[in-house]
Amino acid sequence: MTANSDAERILRETFGYQTFRGRQAEIVAAVAAGDDAFVLMPTGGGKSLCYQIPALLRPGLAVVISPLIALMADQVAALRQLGVAAAVLNSSLSADDQAAIERDMQAGSLDLVYIAPERLMQPRTLALLADCDLALFAIDEAHCVSQWGHDFRPEYMQLSGLAERFPRIPRIALTATADPRTREEIRQRLSLQGAAGFVHSFDRPNIRYRVAERGNAKQQLLRFLRDEHPDQAGIVYCLSRRKTDDIAAWLREQGIDALAYHAGLDREQRAAHQARFQRGEDVVMVATVAFGMGIDKPDVRFVVHLDLPASIEAYYQETGRGGRDGEPADAWMLYGLQDVVQRRRMIEEGDAPEPRKRVERHKLDAMLSYCELTSCRRQHLLAYFGETRDQPCGNCDTCLNPPQTWDATDTARKALSAVYRTGQRFGTGYVIDHLRGQTDERAERQGHTQLSTFGVGNDLGVKEWRAVLRQLVALGYLTMDVDGYGGLQLGDNCRALLRGETRLQLRQLRTEDRPARRAAGS
Ligand code: ADP
Ligand code: ZN
Repeated sequence: MTANSDAERILRETFGYQTFRGRQAEIVAAVAAGDDAFVLMPTGGGKSLCYQIPALLRPGLAVVISPLIALMADQVAALRQLGVAAAVLNSSLSADDQAAIERDMQAGSLDLVYIAPERLMQPRTLALLADCDLALFAIDEAHCVSQWGHDFRPEYMQLSGLAERFPRIPRIALTATADPRTREEIRQRLSLQGAAGFVHSFDRPNIRYRVAERGNAKQQLLRFLRDEHPDQAGIVYCLSRRKTDDIAAWLREQGIDALAYHAGLDREQRAAHQARFQRGEDVVMVATVAFGMGIDKPDVRFVVHLDLPASIEAYYQETGRGGRDGEPADAWMLYGLQDVVQRRRMIEEGDAPEPRKRVERHKLDAMLSYCELTSCRRQHLLAYFGETRDQPCGNCDTCLNPPQTWDATDTARKALSAVYRTGQRFGTGYVIDHLRGQTDERAERQGHTQLSTFGVGNDLGVKEWRAVLRQLVALGYLTMDVDGYGGLQLGDNCRALLRGETRLQLRQLRTEDRPARRAAGS
């Protein structure tokens, strides 16, 4: 029998699937033959089989490195049900159980062992592995090794020692999320420069990307759920645990079967909620990003972001949990000025060292530009991941309902002047009142009602002004003092605009964000 037909036999007989997907067959063949591999596949693409089948094809023990203990346990339970000799080695097991697994490893009676990176690199574990007959190393969620990536885990750093310690054992690294720069870093840190790369297209054509301006978020959410996804399962991401609890409770009051999920819940509760979501057909999971890795529910019909994600990578991975069955799914995000303030503050107040903060600021800016796009969102996302697509997709909000833009040069100049004249200390509310000529005691006291900018913007309403200021902040014409009270200041690139050297096009404010329904991908 050829290696290839052996792989297909395992695919059918052990895993119960008829055909390989995408480049799975090539990857399996390469790793089974003892080559290193670097696999980039979107979430749901089918990465696990890429190392599980070679693990069964090659003699010896396959070591799978994965960051999350809960996830490993699920994977191992699933493999055991299929009759595969797999185990997890971690400190949540009793000393006796650990000793038993270590014996099995040495005896060669296991096909796969899942180990967390910090455990793997302990001298004791390394000595144990040196004593085992090894088939391969699989490094799952390999982006965790990259400081440029969005989920850096210091314990992954040590994995760079693997190549040197076990030079003859093939290594396969897998990740769902990698812009070109992260890819380079992963290859370099894991000594995979020479490894064959397998890039699966990141496009998820059945997911419809939409971004709506945040008004009354709860009502917007309720309308979205009722009008577009009644009795369907989906995920609603929030930034904070408190908001997660709050939204879930409120949705339940509205008669929607909603559950909360965040790291503040105890283990059993989290497991129970996850299980309900997994089985249920119409459960709405309101969650922080703690809910994610390892969810394998095919019929998630929508992924909502009530708050701005930290980066495009995070956004893409989170939205990627929708529509794994290939049926249409919505990625729907609400976005407003407050997000910019909140995210910037999180970066500035965080403990990250300065170089890391610089990366985070850059990623946030990329995320903001995505929100303000007036062109196809899918093209933009794919380009971010290094993939070009010639045509607009026809299945995102900007394609379905192209935003109107308007020449906002004069309006923007009024806003910038108002910020400057009032001393670059005041937040959006004050600046908008000033522009619209609304006076109050504070404005009188400051003498601001006497300024030439007072009332020059009363042609626009509060909502319109908020949209203008948000875009000016997102585009860097204004910055926001995030340490204090959100005071607006002139940004670095406002000069050309103030001098009249450039013109500025902004998005027209939308009252209706919902594109007409059309078949996905049409
Ligand atoms: P990833 O790790 O890339 O997110 P998984 O390995 O968890 O993806 O696979 C996602 C889903 O696709 C799983 O339900 C898996 O069983 C299924 N799958 C993977 N490969 C195939 C295949 N060749 N045929 C059918 N289903 C597959
Ligand atoms: Zn599009």
